[in-house]
Amino acid sequence: MAGAQDKVLGSTEVAQWKDNKKASFLLMFDDGIPTHLKNVIPELKKRNFIGTFYLNPEVKWYSKDKWEKDAKEAGMVFGNHTMTHAGAKNAAQAEDDISRCNEYILKMNPELKQPRLISFARPGGVDWKVTPDEMKAIYAKYNLVPRPPSDARFGGIHIKNADGLIKVVDLAVEKGGSERLFFHGVGGDWLSQSTEDFVKMLDRLDANREKLWVTDPISMHKYETERNGAQVKILESGEKGIRIVLSTSADANLYDLPLTLITKVPAAWKKCKITQSGKTVTAEAANGEVQYEALPGKDEIQIRTE
Ligand SMILES: [Zn+2]
Repeated sequence: MAGAQDKVLGSTEVAQWKDNKKASFLLMFDDGIPTHLKNVIPELKKRNFIGTFYLNPEVKWYSKDKWEKDAKEAGMVFGNHTMTHAGAKNAAQAEDDISRCNEYILKMNPELKQPRLISFARPGGVDWKVTPDEMKAIYAKYNLVPRPPSDARFGGIHIKNADGLIKVVDLAVEKGGSERLFFHGVGGDWLSQSTEDFVKMLDRLDANREKLWVTDPISMHKYETERNGAQVKILESGEKGIRIVLSTSADANLYDLPLTLITKVPAAWKKCKITQSGKTVTAEAANGEVQYEALPGKDEIQIRTE
């Protein structure tokens, strides 16, 4: 890769992940079960991490008040796992169960703009007589994104002990890319991990948080989609200032996450002021590069020094 000194002023890279972290990492929890509220969310909150919880609001173990208040206030993210977890005999039944769960999840976060993308996980262990094409139509109609699948490298959806969980964290730290962990019960309920093993894994994530973007599947999907379709055009570049335009092929109504950019600036610049759509932030430049966030498909980005 060419060093910063070889690039022209204004040349800009879109970082692989937000904040130029080495890997993205997802924590996903199925079925909205009591041990998530009791054992998982307090430990996530303690470390300022988020998890994505795939809810079934019409099952008998669902604690409506706790999910709508405690989990929401803790900043957790909610995914669609169908209203009933009962499965589907046909596409019409699937659509009913999925659309009602979507409605519920949209109402849980009325402060977020709509339409917005929601992560979907198909319920397991029940009949699901819906073809891939029928599912595709449902995804499109309700702005759903199927979550990333479990990974055969780790022997199925559940990893049984702390060593196995920590191995996945270490792999992300060493190799980069994107890793993920799936859970049902933690310290109880079903298909359970021990809370102790879960906490050991969280501590490993915490120790590596400088390298890992611990996020939710929709944020990861948005970042990837915007980044893959991103293009940067230099409008002006020189010692006085740099102006660039960041565009993306992603649909701006649904793909609205800022991307992390790294732009080549004059070597003498230390503190930079970056302006887009009337908002200005400051960022330190180092070795002739400055890193900052910008929204694709919006106004031009202006970079200057003080
Ligand atoms: Zn499930």
